[in-house]
Amino acid sequence: MTDAAVSTAATSADIAAAVEQRRNFAIISHPDAGKTTLTEKLLLYGGAIQEAGAVKAKRAQRSATSDWMELEQQRGISITSTVLQFAYGGYTINLLDTPGHQDFSEDTYRTLAAADNAVMLEDAAKGLEPQTLKLFEVCRMRSLPIFTFFNKMDRPAREPLELLDEIEQRLGLQTYAVNWPIGMGDRFKGVFDRRHQQIHLFERSIHGKKAAKNTVLDIGDPRIEDLLDQDLYYQFKEELEVIEEVGPELDLDAVHAGQQTPVFFGSAMTNFGVQLFLDAFLDYALKPSAHSSTLGEISPTNEDFSGFVFKLQANMDPKHRDRIAFVRVCSGKFEKDMVVSHARSGKSVRLSHPQKLFGQGRESLEEAYPGDVIGLNNPGVFAIGDTIYQGKRLEYDGIPCFSPEIFAYLKNPNPSKYKQFQKGVSELREEGAVQIMFSADESKRDPILAAVGQLQLEVVQYRLQNEYNVETRIEPLPYAVARWVDGGWEALEKVGRLFNTVTVKDSWDRPVLLFRNEWNCQQIQSDHPELKLSAIAPVVS
Ligand code: GDP
Repeated sequence: MTDAAVSTAATSADIAAAVEQRRNFAIISHPDAGKTTLTEKLLLYGGAIQEAGAVKAKRAQRSATSDWMELEQQRGISITSTVLQFAYGGYTINLLDTPGHQDFSEDTYRTLAAADNAVMLEDAAKGLEPQTLKLFEVCRMRSLPIFTFFNKMDRPAREPLELLDEIEQRLGLQTYAVNWPIGMGDRFKGVFDRRHQQIHLFERSIHGKKAAKNTVLDIGDPRIEDLLDQDLYYQFKEELEVIEEVGPELDLDAVHAGQQTPVFFGSAMTNFGVQLFLDAFLDYALKPSAHSSTLGEISPTNEDFSGFVFKLQANMDPKHRDRIAFVRVCSGKFEKDMVVSHARSGKSVRLSHPQKLFGQGRESLEEAYPGDVIGLNNPGVFAIGDTIYQGKRLEYDGIPCFSPEIFAYLKNPNPSKYKQFQKGVSELREEGAVQIMFSADESKRDPILAAVGQLQLEVVQYRLQNEYNVETRIEPLPYAVARWVDGGWEALEKVGRLFNTVTVKDSWDRPVLLFRNEWNCQQIQSDHPELKLSAIAPVVS
C-alpha cells in the first residue's frame, strides 16, 4: 500500500453517508426541447446562480460549428464538458451534461455510461423525437431509470394521454404520471400533484427568473371551481380518473430497473413544475449503485477508491494542449494527490491536478465520492473505458462503441506527411474522438471515419491540422447505418453474398456491415435470420 492510500482511507460509514445524499443524472432530449432552459432552472434551486452563465455560453455555442471551435479556443475545455454539481434539499446533485444539437457525438452516449439516472425531456407539442429515441436506446441498454418531463405546457401541446401512450407503445416503457396537467397552451392552468393531492396553479406573469411562486390548493378546496374554467376542470377530473383506474401503481423497483417511468408536466421557461419534478426525482431516483467489474459487482461503499474514464476532452487551444479525462467515481473516496493504479498499463499514477468540472470554470477539487465526476489531466495515460483503483486489481466493464451514422474516407493528399497522418489518426482513435474503419478491399487504404455526429469529422480534421500539421480531405460515403456481425468473419462467410451493403472492418479487424438506410439493414436481417447483427460493438478488453 502506498502512503497516499493510507492517508485517504475513509470509513465505509463516511462513504455510505456521502452516497446516500448523492444523486446523478443526465438529460436526454432532442434539440430545442428545452434542455438548456431546464438545466438553468434546476440550478436556480441549487442556488448555483453563476452556473446559469455557463448554460448561456452553451447557447452561444450553437450558432455554427466554426464558432464552436473559436469559442473552444477562447474558453478552453469548459464549454462542451460540463458537469454541474449543485446542492438541494440536503442532496448533492450531479447533472452530467450531454452535448446536444449539431455537436451530437459519441460523447453523448458515453456520458450515459457514467449516469445513474436519465431525465427524458420532451417537447409536449412534439412527443418523442429522433435524438431522444437514440439516446433512449443507450439508456435501455444500461437499464437506467428514466424520468420523463413534458415541457412547454404553456404552449399548445398534444393530448397528455396520447403522449403517455406513445411512450408505452414506442418505448415499451410503463408510465406513471406523478403530476397531471390542467389545460395547456393559453389555457394552461397548472398541474395536479398526485403525491400530495394538491393543485399547483400556473401564473403566467412569472417569468422564471426566480424559483417559482406557487399557489397551491388542496383538492377539496372550494376555490378550485372559480379559479379553473369549469370545462377544463371536468376534463382534468375525467383524465385523472382514467389514469387512476387504468394506469399502474408507482413501482419504484420497476422505475429503478428502467421499466416504468415517472412522468411530469411543466414549463421550464416559466419555471413551472420544475421544483415539483426535482422533489419527486430526489425521492425516486437511484442513488449511486454498484458497477460490474472483473471482481464482480463493486459496491460504492467499498473503502477502496475506484472509477473509470468515460470521456476524454482535448483542449482545442493549441497554447494549452492539455487533455482532460473524465472519471466517474464508483467506490471509495477520492482525494487530491492520491496514488492509484491504472489497470490497463499496470502503472501507478498520482492524481495531482484533479479538477471539478463546473460550468465555465475549472475548480481544483479536494475530494469526491461515488456518483461524482472528476477531471484529470491526461498526458496520454488514459483512454476511454480505463479503470483506476486502489487496493485489489479490478477493471470495470468497458464502454462499448455505438453505431456510427456518418461515414467518410479521410484522405491525406500529401505523401510526405504519411507518418504524421498515421500517428494522428491512430491517436485520435485511441482517444475516442472518432471510430476508424477500413475497407475490406485491401486496395483502398484510406481510413474511413465513422462518427455519430458531423462535428466529430470536423474536429478530427481540425486537430490533424493543428496538432499533427496534416491537411486532410474528407470524402463522404453514402452510408447511414452500421452493424457488427456476431460471430465475426466466419459467420459472415456462411451467409454468402449479401446485397445492398458493404463490408468494412473496424480497428480490431472485426467485420462491420454498412447500409445506406435502416430499410436495407432490415431487409438483410429478414432474408438472413441466421445472421446476428448488432448496433453496438462488442467491448474490446
Ligand atoms: P435545448 O436545445 O433543448 O437546450 O433547448 P433550449 O432550452 O435552448 O430551448 C429551446 C427554445 O424553447 C428556446 O427558445 C426556449 O426559450 C424555448 N423554451 C424552453 N422551455 C420552454 C417552455 O417551457 N415554454 C416555452 N413556451 N418555450 C420554452
